Amino acid sequence: MALTHEQKVTLDKLVSLCKRRGFVYQSAEIYGGINGVYDFGHLGTLLKRNLRSTWLSSLSEVPGEIILFEGALLGPYALWKASGHVDHFADQMVECRDCKHRFRIDEIDLEKACPHCGKKNWSEVRQFNMMFQTQIGAVQDQKSIAYLRPETAQEIFVNFKNVITTNRLKLPFGIAQIGKAFRNEITPKQFLFRMREFEQMELEWFCKEENAKKHFEFWKDNRFNFYLSIGIKKENLRLRYHEPTELAHYSTCCTDVEYHFPFGWKELEGIAHRGNYDLSQHIKHSGKDLSIYDEETKKSIVPTVIECSVGVDRLFLTVLFDAYDEDTIEGESRVVLKLSPKLAPIKAAFFPLTKKQNEPMYKIYEAIKNKGFIVQFDESGSIGKRYRRNDEIGTPYCFTYDFESDSDKKVTARDRDTTKQERIAIDQIELFLEKKLI
Ligand code: ATP
Repeated sequence: MALTHEQKVTLDKLVSLCKRRGFVYQSAEIYGGINGVYDFGHLGTLLKRNLRSTWLSSLSEVPGEIILFEGALLGPYALWKASGHVDHFADQMVECRDCKHRFRIDEIDLEKACPHCGKKNWSEVRQFNMMFQTQIGAVQDQKSIAYLRPETAQEIFVNFKNVITTNRLKLPFGIAQIGKAFRNEITPKQFLFRMREFEQMELEWFCKEENAKKHFEFWKDNRFNFYLSIGIKKENLRLRYHEPTELAHYSTCCTDVEYHFPFGWKELEGIAHRGNYDLSQHIKHSGKDLSIYDEETKKSIVPTVIECSVGVDRLFLTVLFDAYDEDTIEGESRVVLKLSPKLAPIKAAFFPLTKKQNEPMYKIYEAIKNKGFIVQFDESGSIGKRYRRNDEIGTPYCFTYDFESDSDKKVTARDRDTTKQERIAIDQIELFLEKKLI
């Protein structure tokens, strides 16, 4: 009986594929590494780059102005005190007094024994602040305390006045940012799902409170459709509306886009109505004006914010899970990443059938590369092996220069998903790729 997608793709298989093919490595592996901290190799870096650029271009299609921002990673104590992170950005945790393993309280049943050592000797429940604290300069006092940002949004709020003044923005508008965030997660796990150093793509959408519900609905649908547009299967996506008891006191609605990971339905992106809480907190603590002048009402207002926030790495893991497949082609089994061509790290591979065809095929490969396509030349092993290598990293098209190519000026183009082959004219390769890679 054929295996279901869920039976085929496991976390272990993905971790091993990512390492084997140079997508993701454990950071500082030769020194034992740090749990929840990863490095990205050539293919991983290309895939991340494609995720960022599809996210950015999806925002450019939205009515209304969205501008870019890149905030600092370090923020002073006062900023994180005002935002509420110093006091509240904490998880509840317990420790097993026997084996010293720590768990988030929502991950275990305290009535039962420790899942790690089998004994039941729990510590009391403690609050554990997840920010990484550091010290700026040589003098150690409260003023020198700084934190690595646990989310990217806050600098946008803190620098709001400068941003609106220099860009002459009118409500509604958005400020988008892609950047690193750091959380000292108690139990980083599931590979790129819960990391200690990760990257977020966040949009803060500023609007008037009376229109906020309408904007929220717009963004919820827009963000869900974004995932369909990058090829994620609809049956693996859903929206989860937060219960009123889950909402922060300043929020009136929040919806997660969830993905059906092999370890369950989990948040991929959060879409949150944040009210004007963040701006108001920074006005209160800094004593500075962070309001915007509204031409319509001739009043200064502190706008309401709808936030759309997704982790680049969590999305990376999602697209790999979704694209992973195993099948059998002409009696040979293969692993294939059926990534959307927009996301595929390598867009096409060029094979000479034998050494004799190296030179003409290399020239074709170079010409396509010089047009700005990310492509590779692969001359080693049988054609079958070269196909498998490229299927496994999601290369959508492979071109082969064979014995007829000299005379008919054509190559064979082979489609990754259907494995169908067609002859196309050498001078049409660029156009072929342009059409297929949209
Ligand atoms: P979770 O409940 O999974 O911890 P969260 O609700 O704390 O997530 P947010 O603060 O809303 O997450 O962060 C926005 C997005 O950033 C998440 O939807 C997720 O995609 C990503 N993200 C958050 N924490 C991590 C992490 N530790 N590792 C990787 N990505 C993360």
